[in-house]
Amino acid sequence: MTQHLDPRSPWVISTHDLGKRPGTMRQLTLALPAPADLGVDMIGVPKDAEVELDLRLEAVMEGVLVSGTAQAPLAGECARCLDPVSSEIRVDLQELFFYSDEDASEEDSLLDGELLDLEPTFRDAVVLALPLSPVCREDCAGLCAECGIKLAEAGEDHRHEKIDARWASLQGLFTDKDNDQEK
Ligand SMILES: [Zn+2]
Ligand SMILES: [Zn+2]
Repeated sequence: MTQHLDPRSPWVISTHDLGKRPGTMRQLTLALPAPADLGVDMIGVPKDAEVELDLRLEAVMEGVLVSGTAQAPLAGECARCLDPVSSEIRVDLQELFFYSDEDASEEDSLLDGELLDLEPTFRDAVVLALPLSPVCREDCAGLCAECGIKLAEAGEDHRHEKIDARWASLQGLFTDKDNDQEK
């Protein structure tokens, strides 16, 4: 059931120092390469980008509690104008890794001996925190719905001489009415 972790994987962390003694604590500052495929449609953390982790590992009765923060660069595109967007994301991490699956439920994380894998914890936190509609600027005007030109470049008076579809259908109604009256 327990899958064995690869101690060479950068996101697999040893808790050897804690010695399973409840109350024992360790601070850890790490810079790890971001895992692949971490993101949603418009934005994500680029693979191998540097993720800065500031962690506290604490032995408790049932396992090891990991808490702290992770900071990573983000790259994607603006949901309105499709320009490239780059920013940063900062997430809080907290996860209890159980020594034994007897104490844990299905969704809980388990230690593999003295090793724990922080990647799923980091991945879940980032996916939840990603903006659904990233924008290059809060006031990005986006693209013209008619011609697709970027409105920021087209200028404020960019217009199309075209009657709005709703007005067009209203015009049709009035015309029909007039015709009816003439009959
Ligand atoms: Zn934009
Ligand atoms: Zn246009």
